[in-house]
Amino acid sequence: MKLLDKIKDSSAFALYPVRCPYCDRVIEKNEVACRSCAEQFPDHCITRAVVGGLACAAAFPYRGSYAGAVRRLKFSNRADYARPLAVQTVHAILEISEDMSFDLITCVPMHVKDIRIRGYNQAELLARECAAVMQLPYVETLEKFKRNRPQHETKAKDRGKNVRGVFRPTDCALFRNKHVLIIDDIITTGNTLGECARMLFLGGCREISCAAVCATSAW
Ligand SMILES: [Zn+2]
Repeated sequence: MKLLDKIKDSSAFALYPVRCPYCDRVIEKNEVACRSCAEQFPDHCITRAVVGGLACAAAFPYRGSYAGAVRRLKFSNRADYARPLAVQTVHAILEISEDMSFDLITCVPMHVKDIRIRGYNQAELLARECAAVMQLPYVETLEKFKRNRPQHETKAKDRGKNVRGVFRPTDCALFRNKHVLIIDDIITTGNTLGECARMLFLGGCREISCAAVCATSAW
């Protein structure tokens, strides 16, 4: 066992018990949900169309304990929820993907000022955990260089315009001719994922797949 794994295996888990992201009960460290929450998981993932026409798989509807889990990951410093939520996101990806030829995993980027405020980009944590589960590389393909109004504070009809031109590729050589899987926490109108996909295609990406933890029904 590598030293880092040993440290993770002993002290970190001893100090911080693993918790079910949906109800916050303590669970075994190799579990991703308590039995009671797992029994209530939907039988199938949700499929949504991203602006531009791509399909996006989402593990859960954005309501109840699923919305609570994502909100705590996002707003209450519960970065430890990223791994169990990523595992369910991977299940959703596997359910809808016919072509499993992903080369790399990336995320919807956040502006550096917003990362400083929150301490992390929850979509990046999710994407890194998905990459670990799927044994694929995580690559930072895009950066958000314009700080726009948060999409959830923008009227649905203005969301396309609000997100247009806020992302740019970091280095096109990283994803040229590759099949990229983009991860986000929530898909609402699909404008944000659509804009990321547009920039990746412009940069020479071959194929794009999208996945999120939750999909809202308020379009
Ligand atoms: Zn639970």
